[in-house]
Amino acid sequence: MWEGGSGSVAMKKSSFSSVPVHIIVCPFCEAGLPIPDDFDAIYKCECGACYKVCSTEMIERGVYDIAGELWTDDELDFIQRVPLDVCNIVVEKDFDRLLDIRQASDAALLERFCKYDTRDQLSLVWIKRLI
Ligand SMILES: [Zn+2]
Repeated sequence: MWEGGSGSVAMKKSSFSSVPVHIIVCPFCEAGLPIPDDFDAIYKCECGACYKVCSTEMIERGVYDIAGELWTDDELDFIQRVPLDVCNIVVEKDFDRLLDIRQASDAALLERFCKYDTRDQLSLVWIKRLI
């Protein structure tokens, strides 16, 4: 049900070609995606996987947030009652390192980063729905 669309693949091209573009790679389909700027937002890959930045201390909350995006309330209620693998979860714990690289080339990101306690380790959580 996530296979929708008719080949309309959006191509993003940076107009600042002199600035190095750092991307993240979807662990499920290996598509290259932009590094999330908004730490509160849930982003979606073309393959249907969702990803979000969250504090490494609070990964469970990040997973819960994304689950709310992938399934309806009724579906979540059902899923919690059946002993099935309903999704694949991938946590990338070196997201901090990626941000450091990005910050070196993009001062605008600092503003976002300051929202968080800089002692917090950040992770990138990916979830892909199986059913
Ligand atoms: Zn993907």
